[in-house]
Order: sequence, then structure tokens, then C-alpha cells
Amino acid sequence: MIESKNKYNFSHIYGPVPSRRLGFSLGIDIIPFKTCSFDCIYCQLGPTIKKTIKRRKYFPSSEILSQIKKVLNSGQRIDYITFSGSGEPTLNSAIGTLVREIKKITPVPVVVLTNSSLFTLKSLRKALKPSDLVIPSLDAATQEIFVKINRPHPSLKIKKIIEGLKEFRREFKGTIWLEIMLVKGVNDSPPHIKKLIKAISEINPDKIQLNTVIRPPAEKFALALNSKELKRIKNILGEKCEIIAEFAKKKQVPPSEDLEEAIFSLIQRRPVTLTDISSSLGKHKNEIIKYLNFLLKEGKVKLVVHKGLRYYEPL
Ligand code: SF4
Repeated sequence: MIESKNKYNFSHIYGPVPSRRLGFSLGIDIIPFKTCSFDCIYCQLGPTIKKTIKRRKYFPSSEILSQIKKVLNSGQRIDYITFSGSGEPTLNSAIGTLVREIKKITPVPVVVLTNSSLFTLKSLRKALKPSDLVIPSLDAATQEIFVKINRPHPSLKIKKIIEGLKEFRREFKGTIWLEIMLVKGVNDSPPHIKKLIKAISEINPDKIQLNTVIRPPAEKFALALNSKELKRIKNILGEKCEIIAEFAKKKQVPPSEDLEEAIFSLIQRRPVTLTDISSSLGKHKNEIIKYLNFLLKEGKVKLVVHKGLRYYEPL
């Protein structure tokens, strides 16, 4: 049967969705859709709607916490509670309170995925201290490449962000996996990789995770490296480095075939955007995106950009 509504009617929570890195991950979204300090050329969620560095308490923490509690009590398997979502989660000034409160109610490890832009702020670094795992990203080691790939808020400087990451490493007792998104011809040149290596060795993360543009990007010119090119860079980065880009060879199995079918049947009727699918099915956009990626990989649907909007159509 096709579900027409999210089981809990949640707006801040999606999943748990299976993820290769984090097992069954319960996604927590505490930011309005595409509110971010960056507008990355590879962003799978499309162009940034609100580019800002101003931290705000976007939603009542009590509302988010009560939703998390309900899912925790439902008995579903949850390996990680992950702050990621539809924009930059550290823009929510309540993130520290939320992490602390979650730690009081469950032993499930808490992860924060972040673009690192606000690590320059001592208050944010302190707020993230109770997390178990932080996955910051760093795609550029020079301001020129930073602007090209991440199209940041004009006040942001990569040198200061790298300093912030180094400070965070000194202060944070948990685990840090540094993610690098490589885009062909943009940040993968040998001289730039050399500069990245210098920055990474100073930051000293527990792991370095290499990714490339596997999912449909905001900009068509954001191209993926092939697996040979990624392996070459992985070897340069050494044993702490792993490739997380999934070059799917075998058929992927979606977590819920019912939901995959519901999405596919909507797409078969007419071209639909991510927002259309999310509101029709009452599911969070980030959950829908995972299924759309399955359908794209399986070659069942295609992504078409029309008048700046991204539509999914049958192939
Ligand atoms: S990839 Fe992340 S950091 Fe970049 S624009 Fe998208 S949400 Fe923001």
C-alpha cells in the first residue's frame, strides 16, 4: 500500500534512512529549505534560496525534541541521530541545546554534518562539543577555489575557516571525519590537492572522506571525477583517507519499495519537482531525495531543468 502521510507527520525528522557511512540514520532538519552560508555548485538540493551567516533559532527546540522522543520510543533501529537536512544546520543557534538534550535522553550517538563555515565562532565550537561525531567539509584551500566551488557568503574567508577547524580539533574530544567533495577541473588539480593536504594535516581529522558529484548537482558544469582519479588522490592523502562516493555497479535496493513506487508513479503522471513530491506524499524532502537517487541510478527517471526549476520525469 502507498503511504500518503508521514507516519508521525514530522516536519523536522526523516528516516531512519540507511546510509553506508552511518547505518540507520535518523535525520534531524532544523533549518528552512536551502538556507545556507554556501551555494555549492554541486549541491544536490539545487540553488541556495537564502544565503546567510546569521544564526537564528528557527524553530522551537521543544517541538524538535518531542518529535525525536516519539521516534526513539517507536522501537525502530537507529544507529545515529544526524543533524544535516536542507541547509547548514549550524545556522540554527539552538543546535548546542538540542545536542545536549538528545544526549540526556538516549545513548544513540549524535552526528553533525556541517559545511564548516561557522567554525570561526567559539560559541559554535563549544556548542558542538557534546556531539559524538562531527563531519565537517572542506573543498578548498585557497579563496579563489573556495569562491568557485562553494560560492560562499561574501564575508567568509577560507583561511579563517581552516583556522576554526584547527581550533575545533584541539577543543573537541569526539571523532572528526573531514569530507572533501572533488569536482573535476575545479578543485582537483595537483597544486590544489597539495594545498589541501597541508590544511588537512594541520586540522588532523580522524578520517578523510573523499566524495565526488554522483548525485544531480545544482550546476550542470559540476562534473564528477572517475573512480581511477579518486583513487589516485586517495593514495596521495594516505591511509586515513577513504572514498565514500558510491559508483553503483550492482542494483541498489531502496529502503522502502512502497515509497519508491509512490514516487515513481507520481513522476509517471507528470513532471514533478522535489517540493511537489514531498507535499503530495507528506514526506520530508531529504527522505524523498534518497529515493530519487535510487530511481536516477536505476535509469528509471531523469532530471530536467526548466526555467530554473528542477523536474523529475520518466526516462
Ligand atoms: S552542499 Fe551543503 S553547504 Fe553546499 S549549498 Fe548545499 S546545503 Fe549548503
